[in-house]
Amino acid sequence: MCVKAVYPGSFDPITFGHIDIIERGLKLFDKIVVAILINPAKTPLFTVQERIEMIRESIKHLPEEKIEVSSFTGLLVDYVKTIKAKAILRGIRAISDFEYEFQMALTNRKLLKDVDTVFMMPDERFSYLSANLVREVATFGGDISHFVPSHVEKKLKEKFLKGD
Ligand code: ADP
Repeated sequence: MCVKAVYPGSFDPITFGHIDIIERGLKLFDKIVVAILINPAKTPLFTVQERIEMIRESIKHLPEEKIEVSSFTGLLVDYVKTIKAKAILRGIRAISDFEYEFQMALTNRKLLKDVDTVFMMPDERFSYLSANLVREVATFGGDISHFVPSHVEKKLKEKFLKGD
């Protein structure tokens, strides 16, 4: 049996924290679908296509057949059903993540009783890292090389030079 998990998020852009969770998840699951949630209420920095490409580039060192990169709109539980995933994978950084994640996990379980959310903790080097923080530091030209792979760093620099 192939146990599949979906790892949903904005990935705007992917950071070393996300990559750490994907690597850990691969030790538990046969397949991980990294799924970009398209949220019409938010204006992301990168397009879905750009985010997909950055994720693909960031996971090149991992077994290709075990990871899929995709995007979805609407309810996560509907997407979980469509792709026949067994679990939702999420990363927990600090206590501050807990309340929101707890609420989401129980809501999702109420909506789809057979799906469980699995939380993983990243390496402590990444436990304070968020894509939001990376975007902010990059806006002001700060050094983000400890937070994202070099190809993502390059994309961020291009984005802020262009000013879009
Ligand atoms: P962000 O909060 O960085 O914008 P996303 O919405 O892309 O994150 O998050 C997708 C998932 O990845 C969430 O479960 C989030 O908690 C997790 N995640 C994000 N950054 C990290 C990190 N540095 N360490 C562990 N998990 C993380």
